[in-house]
Amino acid sequence: MLGLMQEWPLLCHKLLDHAERQHGSREVVSRSIEGPIVRTTFAEIHHRSLKVAQRLERDGFRLGDRVATLAWNTARHIEAWYAIMGIGAVYHTLNPRLFPEQIAWIMNNAEDKAIFVDLTFAPILEKIAGAVRSLRRVIVLTDHAHMPQTSLANAVAYEEWLAQADGAFTWKTFDENTAAGMCYTSGTTGDPKGVLYSHRSNVLHAMMAAMPDAMGLSTRDVVLPVVPMFHANAWGLGQSGPMIGAKLVMPGCKMDGASIYELLDTEKVTFSAAVPTVWMMLLQYLEETGKKLPYLKKVVIGGASCPRAIIAKFQDNYDVQVVHAWGMTEMSPLGTLCTLKPQHEMRTGEARLDVQGKQGFPPFGVEMKVTDDDGNALPWDGKTFGHLKVRGPAVARAYYGGDGAEQFDADGWFDTGDVAHIDASGYMQITDRAKDVIKSGGEWISTIDLENLAVGHPDVAEAAAIGIPHSKWGERPLLVVVRKPGREPSKGDILTFMSGKVAKWWMPDDVAFVGEIPHTATGKIQKTSLRAQFKDYRLPTD
Ligand code: ADP
Repeated sequence: MLGLMQEWPLLCHKLLDHAERQHGSREVVSRSIEGPIVRTTFAEIHHRSLKVAQRLERDGFRLGDRVATLAWNTARHIEAWYAIMGIGAVYHTLNPRLFPEQIAWIMNNAEDKAIFVDLTFAPILEKIAGAVRSLRRVIVLTDHAHMPQTSLANAVAYEEWLAQADGAFTWKTFDENTAAGMCYTSGTTGDPKGVLYSHRSNVLHAMMAAMPDAMGLSTRDVVLPVVPMFHANAWGLGQSGPMIGAKLVMPGCKMDGASIYELLDTEKVTFSAAVPTVWMMLLQYLEETGKKLPYLKKVVIGGASCPRAIIAKFQDNYDVQVVHAWGMTEMSPLGTLCTLKPQHEMRTGEARLDVQGKQGFPPFGVEMKVTDDDGNALPWDGKTFGHLKVRGPAVARAYYGGDGAEQFDADGWFDTGDVAHIDASGYMQITDRAKDVIKSGGEWISTIDLENLAVGHPDVAEAAAIGIPHSKWGERPLLVVVRKPGREPSKGDILTFMSGKVAKWWMPDDVAFVGEIPHTATGKIQKTSLRAQFKDYRLPTD
């Protein structure tokens, strides 16, 4: 027997319809690429988005076409996203931090037919557009006055192009499983792989993201998505923001401490989300200037493991709650978030940080398990670590074009490539990427634990642990350290600081000081190039 409830497809543009009707006057504030702060509302974005959709359709774009964006977080980017989805086309966010050749490869793989590009990135596109065979239309996200001289074929200024439509357009309607968006993994090993979100998965993910023990968003919130829309959908905030009717503050291209602080303060931001490096810059700015954060209540920190020192500083010095989070492009991207369950609420100090340093537990809609190499489930005891696998309605079931099939099993589990343990309360803690874990004498050493510990040293700016071949143990840890400016900690200082805080056999065999540690396009430590850099390194213990 079937239920007798309505068929109401979960389509992304319904989120914007809801925002317009219920929260039409709620503001969306952007730091524009041209410079000034620009203010608009959900009602205005809704209207302009309909115009963009109308204009796209007039240019011949249709259901299933891939339309790329190479842009920062701004109101225009949001308008473009909903317009693309509203005609049944697929938004394809490109990460401008990739090499131009990689961007061209990705665009060709996705067969992008059109692109919305910010002024900042027009020079990148000029270099590669000729190599993208499918590209027919370039829309530069600016007005006539700021339109640059460009070699790009079929390029128009967004505002001019948009002015040729009146917004008398009805969103298309189709099956909720229709593709809505696309994002490629950064491809630190091998070619990047395409993840193809559906309308249904995006809407369900937006609901999951907004829930109280996930991001916990409300219409009274003022949300600053620092995490870019091109980095795993701005962690869903481009969808959950309109769904909830929160005021949005879009940071454009400026992520330095002073610029972020300015927006937090003038717009009275209550909630923000970003990777740890952004928060390190902000905290440093606050320390230098003595400024405070009177409005900010909560920050979600993820994308890389968040050092305890950052959590402690936010909470103790600024009274801002930190929610550590883990996820990945393949998960839309949220996987787990770390809020406290009732049994932890009474904890204080270090005992509280012991919980908050973990990546947390999943909202409804994400199942997880850890397994050994043979796929057997491991106990949830908070120490036995293994391969982290997930499934759910907003988790990829395949990559675009069928790449990486070995990561998906017959029971629907996706192997994240992360190594983790889960404790009896259901809290997951990432210990490594499977490719990065150090295998010493058949046992695994967590590089993330070593790194988080090392950056707790007051003179250490950044640290990375890698495995170096060892004749007796197979591999042993080398700690690569960037010192803070003007500080000169020695190897002995750092090892003494770490000693007693991890198992003895986990202690690094050596410490190497470098000027800089390489990072990927999504801001993570690039272990592959670091290993290449130290491939001839001999440990003193060997
Ligand atoms: P990319 O591979 O393109 O950088 P993602 O942004 O999807 O893509 O990265 C996902 C990976 O980032 C995860 O599989 C995990 O290894 C790492 N990661 C994300 N959040 C955390 C976290 N809080 N702690 C540790 N690692 C994290």
